[in-house]
Amino acid sequence: MTSLEDLPLRSDLRGSEPYGAPQLPDGIQLNVNENSYGVPESVQKKISREIEHSLSQLHRYPDREFVELRKLLANFLGYGLDENQIWAANGSNEILQQIHQAFGGPGRLALSFGPTYSMYPVIAKGTLTDYLELPREDGFTLSPNYVGEQIRANNPSIVILCSPNNPTGTAIDLDVIEAAYDATEGMLIVDEAYAEFSDSDSAISLLENRPRLVISRTMSKAFAFAGVRLGYMAADAAVIDAMRLVRLPYHLSSLTQAASRAAVMESETMLSNVREISVQRERVAAEFRKLGLDVYPSKSNFLLVSGFKDPRAVFDYLMNQGLIVRKTTIESALRITIGTEPENNKLLELMPSAIASLD
Ligand SMILES: *Cc1c(COP(=O)(O)O)cnc(C)c1O
Repeated sequence: MTSLEDLPLRSDLRGSEPYGAPQLPDGIQLNVNENSYGVPESVQKKISREIEHSLSQLHRYPDREFVELRKLLANFLGYGLDENQIWAANGSNEILQQIHQAFGGPGRLALSFGPTYSMYPVIAKGTLTDYLELPREDGFTLSPNYVGEQIRANNPSIVILCSPNNPTGTAIDLDVIEAAYDATEGMLIVDEAYAEFSDSDSAISLLENRPRLVISRTMSKAFAFAGVRLGYMAADAAVIDAMRLVRLPYHLSSLTQAASRAAVMESETMLSNVREISVQRERVAAEFRKLGLDVYPSKSNFLLVSGFKDPRAVFDYLMNQGLIVRKTTIESALRITIGTEPENNKLLELMPSAIASLD
């Protein structure tokens, strides 16, 4: 059997681990922040119709510029954006990768503040970009002064601020983003993968006259569309031109474009469970606190819960019961996605015995 060690692999990739959250298709999956409510049936029908219309043209390459989809996304985001300020790719991970391809690379640094999204270092590595993750401040917050100072001290080509932040759920104020922008001559990416769950202001409101600012969004979370792989971004039209230099030709398939157009046209229905998920989040948080656990304030569809004596054992216990949550690098903590009401009930039913099983 050939192993990786036998191949002429890039030396900097030797010994690295692939991203891989376990999947448990028959269980209750509260580990990757999907929207458990799924795509509403009326939208499923609309998606089918939109895909059906595209079938007769599948022998042709898709619209390389996916103009219709960009128009719909611009309209959905609002803020007076037009399609020239919008770009999309196969998940916001591909958006981040394209930004690194265009603005990172050898000898350039990407800077973020952790604990944060585990894919940032992976994307940096794949694009040969140096990566530095500095610690967040107390309670995983960030202040304008701290962020500004650290950026000036490290001179990054790319700064990534995740808000609300994965895995902590913390949102940052716009003055932090303004300070970060003023402190860097590089690109500033605000990853708003969970923005729909947050009542904080979007950094999109800061786009005007900030041509190095990028706001990244995804349909994988609130939109319940993780399987389609559609991420998008808003930025100055010149940044969109930079994306055209590095994207693969025709990177968004006709099927992806068709499904996404239907979903954005039906955004109101697609997002109809967002409020309910936030309500469930606060219910679950309150119940966890009654169990003596610490729950960080969250503006997303998940909770960072700490105070577990042995989070791995709790993870294993829940996994054995068919319910999967997420281990983190944060001491005594687990990250738990908010599911449907019955899923959350099951979680709350299992948790006391999961904790007791340690004693
Ligand atoms: C889930 C997530 C994404 C989304 O990735 P997709 O490629 O769009 O599915 C991006 N950023 C953060 C912080 C996330 O948690």
